[in-house]
Amino acid sequence: MKIRPAEVPPLAANVPQAAPSEVADLLRFAPGNSFAAVDPEATPGFSGSKADGKVAQSLDNAVLSDLQERLFANAAVNGLQHSVLLIIQGRDSAGKGGLVKHVVSALSPHGVEVAAFGVPTAEEAAHYFLWRVYRRLPRWGNIGVFDRSHYEDILAVRMHGLAPQKVWAERYDVINEFEEGLHESGIRVVKVMLTISPEEQEERLRDRLVRADKQWKHSASDISDRAAWGDYTTAFQDVLDRTSRVGAPWFVVPANRKWYSRWAVTRILINELQQLGLEWPQGDFDPAAELARLEASRPKKS
Ligand code: AMP
Ligand code: MG
Repeated sequence: MKIRPAEVPPLAANVPQAAPSEVADLLRFAPGNSFAAVDPEATPGFSGSKADGKVAQSLDNAVLSDLQERLFANAAVNGLQHSVLLIIQGRDSAGKGGLVKHVVSALSPHGVEVAAFGVPTAEEAAHYFLWRVYRRLPRWGNIGVFDRSHYEDILAVRMHGLAPQKVWAERYDVINEFEEGLHESGIRVVKVMLTISPEEQEERLRDRLVRADKQWKHSASDISDRAAWGDYTTAFQDVLDRTSRVGAPWFVVPANRKWYSRWAVTRILINELQQLGLEWPQGDFDPAAELARLEASRPKKS
C-alpha cells in the first residue's frame, strides 16, 4: 500500500524577495551595530510593491502554518521537546499588537500561545521579575508570542526610574543566562525589535486621538515616552548590544511599513522552523491493516 507524500506549500515565487535564511541574516543584529542607523522605511530583502508583499505573505502564511503543524505533530506523537518563543519589543505604536494578530491568524489556535506583558500586577510585582515570564513559556510543539517581555524589566524600569540602576543593570546578564537555558532546553528564542520613525509614530499616535476605533489604545505615557526618544534609542541600543547572542538573537525589523515587518517576521520564523528539519511523524500502526479495519467497520444499511 502506498502512502501519499505530504504536499509542501510553495514558498512565494515570482516575487523579488530574499530566501528566509537571507532575510534572517539581513536583519539579525550583531552587537556593535547601530540601532539608530536602521532605516524604518527600508524593506531589506524585499524589492517588490506592497501588493507583491501581500501575495508573498499569503503563500508564506501557508508555509508557516505547515511547519508549525509539523512541530505540533512531532511533539504530540514523538515527544519532541522543541518550541519557538517569539519576543516582540518596540516603541509605542510600532505595531507589536498587529504583528501578534498577524502571526496568530496564520496559525492553528491550538499551536500558538500569546502573552502580553503590561505593568506588573500586584501579584506579579510581589515576585521575582522572571516569575510571570516562566509561567507563560510555550509548551512543546507550540509557538509562544510575547507582546513585550522581560525586556521591559530593563527598559520600562530604566526609563521610568522604577528602580535604581543597580537593579536593572544586573538584568542583562540574568536575562542572557535565562535565555541560554531556554535555548539549551529546546526553546528557540527569536527576538524582534520593531523600529519606526518619529514621523510615523506621530501619525499613529495622532490617529489614536482622532479615531473613535483607536482612542482606546491611547496612553498618556506614550507621549511622554516619545518626548524621551533619544534616551529610549540609547536604552534599546544597550539591550541589543548586551543581549543579542547566539541562540537568542535580536532581529531589528523596519516597521514603518506594516506589511513589510509582518512579511519579514514570518520569514524569520519560517527560517527558524526549517532548521528543525521536521518530517511528518509516522504512526506506529500498520496502515494497510487499519484501512482494512476501516472498511470492515462500515455500518450496515438497515
Ligand atoms: P501596552 O503594550 O500598550 O499595553 O502597554 C503596556 C505598558 O506596560 C507599557 O507602558 C510598558 O512599558 C509597561 N510595562 C510592561 N512591563 C513592565 C514592567 N516590567 N515594569 C514596568 N512597566 C512595564
Ligand atoms: Mg500602549
